[in-house]
Amino acid sequence: MPDQSHLDNRYFVDTTIYNCPFCNRRHVSYTIVVNFSFDWTDKKRCFGHIVRCHSCGKKSLHLTFKDLEPQHIGQIDGTNRWRFTFGKSAGQVLDEVFFYSVPTSFFVLDERVPRVLRELLTEAEGCLKSNYLTGASACARKIVYELGALSKATGDNYKDRIKSLKAKHPDVEPAFFDTLLTIQQVTSSKVHENSYDGWEAKHLRIILASLSEVLHEIYVVPALRDDRRKAILALKGEVVPPTAKSNNDAQQIAPADGPASRGRG
Ligand SMILES: [Zn+2]
Repeated sequence: MPDQSHLDNRYFVDTTIYNCPFCNRRHVSYTIVVNFSFDWTDKKRCFGHIVRCHSCGKKSLHLTFKDLEPQHIGQIDGTNRWRFTFGKSAGQVLDEVFFYSVPTSFFVLDERVPRVLRELLTEAEGCLKSNYLTGASACARKIVYELGALSKATGDNYKDRIKSLKAKHPDVEPAFFDTLLTIQQVTSSKVHENSYDGWEAKHLRIILASLSEVLHEIYVVPALRDDRRKAILALKGEVVPPTAKSNNDAQQIAPADGPASRGRG
């Protein structure tokens, strides 16, 4: 089966499933409970949709300038419900057309990623959705700067900091850092960083996706590996009588289980 984990990084997976920002559950079903529209300007209409999570019941708000014409599907729990009615790649379409969502897609970055970096990435994505490219570019640069500071990377400019980060994190897929460098090269005909204007939307999407992967690999992957290691060792501790060595392991990995394991031994 092809890897589908990219769907975990979306707000909307398709017309029936989304990643709930409240209960943090991936792939739960949702329906629209309220549709409304208002005049953004005298020529531009804005459409709002409030969707409800079928797991926790909490409601989120989503704004778009596109009339999505949701379809009424009947009642659930005595209230009217609608669904968006796209065909293929509905999730991608929905994530692109909504320029404003509350809560934001903050939840898509694991909380093991330092807060300052999550906030910057969320802000960058918000800017990009509203087409505030200067803001998004500034946030992307700040992420590289802050990540550099946290990683004790060196370099006075964006390019050198990326190179230093790549050297500091040999376990992270180098292609992500290389992508960040390549984008910088193809977009910057100017030699000095100070004269640099910012990136276009198509570049920013790649940059933010790469940064998101880098943060995931630096902060989340090692922690997940460690969790699995602890879980396996804990299971092993339940079936293998603790010898001097395994007892040592058990104490190291799961102090809370220590007395029970010793009791059974
Ligand atoms: Zn929920």
